[in-house]
Amino acid sequence: MKKRLWIKILILIIILAGASGVVYYYHLLQQFDVVNIELHTDTPSGSILYTDKTQVKYEITVTLENIAGKTQTKTHWPTITTDNALCNISDDGILKVRPDVTTGTNIYVTAAYSQGGLEVSEDFYYTTRTLLEDTIDSNGIVTNPQAPDVLVNKQRGIAPEYKPDDLVVPNVQFHQTNETVKQMRKEAAEALEKLFDAAEEAGYTLYAVSGFRPYDMQANIYNYHINTYGEVYANTVSAAPGKSEHQTGWVMDITAKSAGYDLVEMFGETPEGIWVQQNAHHYGFIIHYEKGKEDITGYAYEPWHLRYLGEELAPKVYESGLTFDEYMVQ
Ligand SMILES: [Zn+2]
Repeated sequence: MKKRLWIKILILIIILAGASGVVYYYHLLQQFDVVNIELHTDTPSGSILYTDKTQVKYEITVTLENIAGKTQTKTHWPTITTDNALCNISDDGILKVRPDVTTGTNIYVTAAYSQGGLEVSEDFYYTTRTLLEDTIDSNGIVTNPQAPDVLVNKQRGIAPEYKPDDLVVPNVQFHQTNETVKQMRKEAAEALEKLFDAAEEAGYTLYAVSGFRPYDMQANIYNYHINTYGEVYANTVSAAPGKSEHQTGWVMDITAKSAGYDLVEMFGETPEGIWVQQNAHHYGFIIHYEKGKEDITGYAYEPWHLRYLGEELAPKVYESGLTFDEYMVQ
């Protein structure tokens, strides 16, 4: 009798152990461990981000697996960080360049995520572009005359009353007596001083001639050219009033003694002109109206006309081999 009781107890233990084993196994089946984390984005590194337009989406796919080899995936969003305050980032993994960021700005982004002991971290690089159609009104007047990437040309005018509020006379040698046209915007003036100093160090003496040009002065010059040469020629050498980027304050015409202190095409062949052509972009300037690009820019070759774009954008435009006008519509 005693022996049978023990057998019963033993059977009961076996049943309970079996049952708890099943329960435990069932519990294990519910447990999923992270086996893989992948980061996805719709915008590859190296892309152009249009300011306030392009939305970069980042997404994390986490793959989980249980003891029976069954997998499931879950979507999360990574933590996105940038090295500066140029972007707006939302919690659901969307990055957008802030509205005031200008063309050619470098954006570095890191997207990272970790879960269950695994982690993923990827770096992205982008460059920005302002959309031309976002910076012009229905009258063909640019809405961003103050921006260093403003494009002013025969299709994109500048308001007659526009005058930059930070004009200064750069501390360089001038071949000019009119104090108004000696002016440039402060940032460009400082860059011009560096450019002239570097030229001097390389053995080339440059002279500044003509920078800021207000609307009424443009009108006088234009009318003079029309009266002297006729309208067709006048349009290739001077801008109709309100169509000159000199009004932005981002421009300086320069020359050298070997070009007779003049604004002439042969400046481009002088040692000074060649040095400027090869080096201006290091200081934030480009030669806007280049040889062979007359059909695109609408202007004759002007090796003396320096346009300030900033130290990030100017080298990019220079290295692209494109005119600034072409670069902006890529
Ligand atoms: Zn000029």
